[in-house]
Amino acid sequence: MKFDPASNIQDLKQFGEFGGVNPSITDSSTFTFLRTDTMEELFDHELEGCFLYSRHWNPTNRYLAEALAAMEGTESAWITSSGMSAITSVIFQLCNSGDHIIASRTNYGGTFAFLKNYLPKFNIKVSFVDITDPESIISLIRKETRLIYCESIDNPLLEIANIPLLAKIADEKNIKLIVDNTFAPMVLSPAQLGAHIVVYSLTKFINGKNDCVAGAICASKNFISDLSDINQGTVMLLGPVLDSLRAANILKNLHTLHIRMKQHSKNALFVARKLEELGLPVYYPGLPSHPQYDLMNQIMNKEYGYGGMIAVDIEPPEKAKMFMENLQKNNVGYLAVSLGYFKTLFSHPGKSTSSEIPREFQHEIGLKEGLIRISVGLDSDIERTVKRINISLKDIDIKTNEIPDSDKT
Ligand SMILES: *Cc1c(COP(=O)(O)O)cnc(C)c1O
Repeated sequence: MKFDPASNIQDLKQFGEFGGVNPSITDSSTFTFLRTDTMEELFDHELEGCFLYSRHWNPTNRYLAEALAAMEGTESAWITSSGMSAITSVIFQLCNSGDHIIASRTNYGGTFAFLKNYLPKFNIKVSFVDITDPESIISLIRKETRLIYCESIDNPLLEIANIPLLAKIADEKNIKLIVDNTFAPMVLSPAQLGAHIVVYSLTKFINGKNDCVAGAICASKNFISDLSDINQGTVMLLGPVLDSLRAANILKNLHTLHIRMKQHSKNALFVARKLEELGLPVYYPGLPSHPQYDLMNQIMNKEYGYGGMIAVDIEPPEKAKMFMENLQKNNVGYLAVSLGYFKTLFSHPGKSTSSEIPREFQHEIGLKEGLIRISVGLDSDIERTVKRINISLKDIDIKTNEIPDSDKT
């Protein structure tokens, strides 16, 4: 049977205390016990249906975790207070002093800064690689290497990681493959393609409302159990716990994710094609001009499209800035970082979300100064939006192919 993330979520039966169609929100940090013995036992090992303290497990967070595990097809999952805490907890759980990580050189700016600036404090070494070059990855794996880290669709250049191939390399060398799937929930199912651990910033598409920050880790039962171990587990001891009221909201939003992803993808493909027709350099995995277009078609869950993220180069960078201000003025969306929102958001990665990446390195990975990242919204009439984009382009006076006359005023 075909793996379908949305159907897996739909099949869950999670009821509220009085038969509510939504699970009850457990608004408690601690839980009572009838017998002292049970409490003592729970400190030793997990007891089915028994909760101790909300930094460990909270029933509401567990409902959300179950739903995310269903979406990814993993045995288990864990909810964290941010995408960054999901990423950093996984890495700290797997690595000790002296260990080595292979990471894609194009990653979310915060992830890059953590790997490059923070891990040296713990004597954990990181090699940054071109994730589309498996030979160089294999050549860098050594005795101390614990994991390969990458994003499924990366930030901000929208390169596609060959997850099945990376998983094969990781399996052969007995190391873990960690994939950040924040840009492509439902579009890609990394665990089904062989990734060992999938991390998310729920802040983005999954919640989709830009009203909170949250994260998740989808993995095997064993890994989640190690991660939450009372004496040794990273999430238990560092404590990045999400509040249960927020978890309940995110869970409700997760149930409409499949519809939203389809609309984000449909709109993004339309905008990407139109920008490319104007002769602009566009990065979008749904365009045949994208270097990993064929790979994307092989590994994606087709019905969800190619995702909602586009990047476009507007040079020189001064014009890129004017263009973004025009987009906001013409009500295409907002000049803001973040993504996966119902409205279109655009920013300038070189100077914002990827500014942690040094300029020379930005240059090396092909991140141009005028690159604009667009998270395409859920617009009902995307043709109307494209007209507004064309108007925004018109008065920055850059060289493009002919903009239709009706869109110039
Ligand atoms: C936003 C983001 C993160 C960090 O998530 P937070 O929820 O902001 O901590 C990590 N990875 C990617 C790809 C992101 O877009």
